[in-house]
Amino acid sequence: MKTVKDYIRTIVDFPHEGILFRDVTTLFADPRGFRIAVDQLLHPYAGIRFDKVVGLEARGFILGGAIAHQLSVGFVPIRKKGKLPGAVISEEYQLEYGEAVVEIHDDAIKAGERILVVDDLLATGGTAEAGIRLVERLGGEIIGCAFIIDLPDLGGRKRLEALGMDVHALCA
Ligand code: AMP
Repeated sequence: MKTVKDYIRTIVDFPHEGILFRDVTTLFADPRGFRIAVDQLLHPYAGIRFDKVVGLEARGFILGGAIAHQLSVGFVPIRKKGKLPGAVISEEYQLEYGEAVVEIHDDAIKAGERILVVDDLLATGGTAEAGIRLVERLGGEIIGCAFIIDLPDLGGRKRLEALGMDVHALCA
């Protein structure tokens, strides 16, 4: 029986030389693969109440939408700068070369709401940390951070755990 990892394709040297890009489109395209990924991501949270799922652009939208539907809760996107139409708050973070900015609508989360943060992959943790800061600035309580893939050598899990986050990932 195939595992979640078996549905993920690795593309060598994308988008730059030296990067092994973990392509989850092959997982999302497979009905069993997508289903087991969503089910396994939710498994540790059985019986836990959430108010919203927050997904990180862009593959976190696909995954987060399916997870929110499964939990019967709302979905909130965190987007790259300039994409959200309403009033936003922003967080800057460091990339390998330069900086990036992510944004959330300033009314998307109410203080005290219980949040699950979702993305496809955790690498350095910079993107997730910026997302966490946005949610926490709006008063959201982050109950968990869930990823399909964790690349442990890049330190993201340790970085998020140092912020007090509970990190769940399906494969490395
Ligand atoms: P980081 O902020 O370093 O944790 O990078 C995580 C974000 O970049 C996620 O939104 C991923 O989709 C994307 N990403 C980083 N490294 C890879 C990789 N090797 N393959 C696919 N996506 C990646």
